[in-house]
Amino acid sequence: MTFLQFEMIKFGVKDLIDVAIVSFIVYQVLRLAKGTRSAQIIIGLSLIAAIAFVAYWFQLEGLTYLFSTLGAFGILVLVVVFQPELRGALAHIGQNRLFRMFVSLEHSRALEEVSRAALRLAELGYGGLIVIERRTGLRNYSETGKPLDAELSSELMVTLFTPYTPLHDGAVVVSGDYIVAAAVSLPLTANPRYRKLYGMRHKAAIGVTEVSDAVVVVVSEETNHLSLAHDGILESDIPRQEFRERLAELLKR
Ligand code: ATP
Ligand code: MG
Repeated sequence: MTFLQFEMIKFGVKDLIDVAIVSFIVYQVLRLAKGTRSAQIIIGLSLIAAIAFVAYWFQLEGLTYLFSTLGAFGILVLVVVFQPELRGALAHIGQNRLFRMFVSLEHSRALEEVSRAALRLAELGYGGLIVIERRTGLRNYSETGKPLDAELSSELMVTLFTPYTPLHDGAVVVSGDYIVAAAVSLPLTANPRYRKLYGMRHKAAIGVTEVSDAVVVVVSEETNHLSLAHDGILESDIPRQEFRERLAELLKR
């Protein structure tokens, strides 16, 4: 039984580019899947692929037959199972740095609607916690809330934070032109600097910016202050007339 047969192996520039592209794609897929339920599915699939490979290698006819027959259906099943993830992944490709122009267009919508909503929430004396997703995917957090996928508008945002309504508790996640989810739980910062200063809403705002590049808007229910969290820090009590401008600067980076 021969285990490995090395032919004349030629490895040129073309192969190098080929390997680089494949590695990049695998890396991006893993990065998108990280921390989500897809990660477990990918591990499962890799195991199946490994078994299929072993079956093929040792020429286990039965197993090989089973896998090759199921293989064709498998791809269909994958597309169906991963439909939401594929949509998200394609959207992410569209949000790539190469398409920065479109991203900033999307952010301009987020900027207008979110800043209008924040000012209105402060006027009304409602609390608010709005996470604006940027390059780091936040699906693992969005999944803790109620999925919405609704077109972003300041009116809907204010409605979502209206006290005593079912979804007002927690954070709203915005991605592009969409409100992805409401009533989302965020990780709290453990930074001792903030321990005494702020309550849970502000700690959650800081917490999510420690693990992502998101920009978070906080409207305090107690003080009606507007604050912005980014990169693990909180800029608190931003004057209302400066708020939109400061949010614009943070989203531009
Ligand atoms: P405020 O100034 O508005 O009172 P705060 O920082 O004092 O804010 P809390 O009063 O402790 O915060 O909590 C207010 C609200 O923050 C909660 O009712 C809840 O909706 C939200 N919140 C608390 N913890 C989290 C969390 N981990 N993720 C998302 N939202 C949270
Ligand atoms: Mg409080």
